[in-house]
Amino acid sequence: MKKKIRFYQSINTKIVFVIVLLLVFALQLIGANFITQIERQLIANFQEDRQVQMNFLESTIMPFLEQEASDEENEIDPVQEINSLIGEFSGSGITDLQVVNEDLVVIGTSDSTQQSIVGQLSDDVDVRQALFTESTVPRQVIDPITNNRRWKVVEPVFSEGDEGQFLGAILMESNIESVYAQISQITLIFLQSSAVAIILSLILANMVSRALTKPIKEMQIQTRQIADGDYSGTLKVYGEDELGQLASLINDLSDDVAEAQESIDAERRRLNSVLTHMTDGVVATDRRGKIIIINDMGQTMLEMSEEEAIGENLLAVLKVEEEITLRTILEKQDDILINANQDGVMTILRASFSLIQRESGFISGIVCVLHDVTEQERIDEERKQFVSNVSHELRTPLTSMRSYIEALADGAWEDPELAPRFLEVTQNETDRMIRMIQDLLHLSRIDSGKSSLDLEIVDISEMVDHVLNRFEMLIHSAEYKGKDYQIEKKLLKEAVFVEVDPDRMIQVLDNIMNNAIKYSPDGGTITGRMEKRQDTVIISITDQGMGIPKADLHKIFSRFYRVDRARSRAMGGSGLGLAISKEVVEQHGGRIWAESTEGKGTTFYLSLPYVPFEEEDEWV
Ligand code: ADP
Repeated sequence: MKKKIRFYQSINTKIVFVIVLLLVFALQLIGANFITQIERQLIANFQEDRQVQMNFLESTIMPFLEQEASDEENEIDPVQEINSLIGEFSGSGITDLQVVNEDLVVIGTSDSTQQSIVGQLSDDVDVRQALFTESTVPRQVIDPITNNRRWKVVEPVFSEGDEGQFLGAILMESNIESVYAQISQITLIFLQSSAVAIILSLILANMVSRALTKPIKEMQIQTRQIADGDYSGTLKVYGEDELGQLASLINDLSDDVAEAQESIDAERRRLNSVLTHMTDGVVATDRRGKIIIINDMGQTMLEMSEEEAIGENLLAVLKVEEEITLRTILEKQDDILINANQDGVMTILRASFSLIQRESGFISGIVCVLHDVTEQERIDEERKQFVSNVSHELRTPLTSMRSYIEALADGAWEDPELAPRFLEVTQNETDRMIRMIQDLLHLSRIDSGKSSLDLEIVDISEMVDHVLNRFEMLIHSAEYKGKDYQIEKKLLKEAVFVEVDPDRMIQVLDNIMNNAIKYSPDGGTITGRMEKRQDTVIISITDQGMGIPKADLHKIFSRFYRVDRARSRAMGGSGLGLAISKEVVEQHGGRIWAESTEGKGTTFYLSLPYVPFEEEDEWV
């Protein structure tokens, strides 16, 4: 996010660079022009000065050259005069002054080292040229010895008058180097002041650009803070200019963003709390099915933490990759059932999908809502099982009855021996069906809460004793002849008053006793016990029969459940007895359970709540 601006990229540097570049450019232009002008002017001045000197020399020397040319004897020697003139003139910048006569013979020179050329024919090209062109020959030459620049002027001298006879020439060489030195000096001064100007402008430009970029820099810092979510700062507005306006706009923007962010945060918090407190699991994914949100319930249901889930594929997490693809979900959002494991308990979850769609129709994700339907599925399964059980239970006696009735219709009714037997079987089967339907009706009444108890305060000790006595008689009847059953009573001697519906409670005890006899095919002792706890009375009936496997112990109270279906049915059981007993006991606020060892015997326990009566109450 944060990007350091390199030195050469900053506006500051750019502004300074441009200003200085402009200045250098301007100075270059001015300097070049100015120095060239100066140079030209100085050189022109110098040349003019030399020309003035030359003109003066020419006019002075001309009469002597005329004399020299005329060969007339005079008291004054023109050569000598010329030489003294040359002597007077030389100096003050003039390095060499030569005079040649009409035959181009050197008459005199100011250069003391060149005195040997006096009287010799001049070999100077410019002198010859001046003679031929009959005009001044000005030229800049380089001194071969000192390498200095010299200004050389050769002036031909003509006699006065119309013909203008060539009398000779004057050669003047002067040192122009001083002019150049002067130019150099000026250039140097110019360069120095330019340098100072550049440095000053550098400082000034820096200051100006800093003043300009300071608010920009502040805005940069502020916008970065806004981007980072810190809306606390306020920009200083320096003026009414564009930057000032921009700064106040940024301040406004910051406020707006802060407000918007706050409402988004509030919305998110609301959503989060809704998601957190939902009893359904919610999982949201991006458009590729990768999980981006999972609520607490979702984590519990899928047994994974948020960290583990985020970024994972939804279908992989639901373990349905093989059955369903993302494409199918996107095309139609059918619910699916998945098996999950919650704290070691198998659960069934219904996963419903919906799409997160933008206004444009673009699908940006999927929301999956997980609902625990274990209980629902269990009830559904139980209901199906129940219907199947009832149908099955009714079909068996009906099938058997039909075959007997068919046999009777086919002629067995005429058989005096078979007919009564067949009719008895059908009667028994009908009785069994009626019993079963009565049981079912009873259960249905309990289920719908329509079965109310006729409560009475009874002495439960007496009631149990009474039931056991009845069975005592039964086992000694002809039906159980040959089987060795004994009934032992370890009941409480005192009366225990409990509020029960006597008919129902006797039905429960009968059922338990019946089972004890039924499932003890080899006989044995059946013991009835009673025990009084603080506010419960516990009745138990123990047999020495076949027992119940451990795995089936908790299922025997379910409707239609029988450990050994064939045997139980053969014994006339329907599998509803204990289910009804359980409902009845629970209606009384009691509990029923069993303990058993396979092959050894079973004990059924019945606990009923009771309120101990005070001594006095009993006598009232
Ligand atoms: P049923 O009409 O089949 O006896 P119950 O609801 O009374 O139905 O009992 C359910 C099942 O529990 C029986 O089928 C039997 O397998 C088992 N059971 C009940 N009592 C005993 C017992 N005393 N000893 C062994 N098994 C028993």
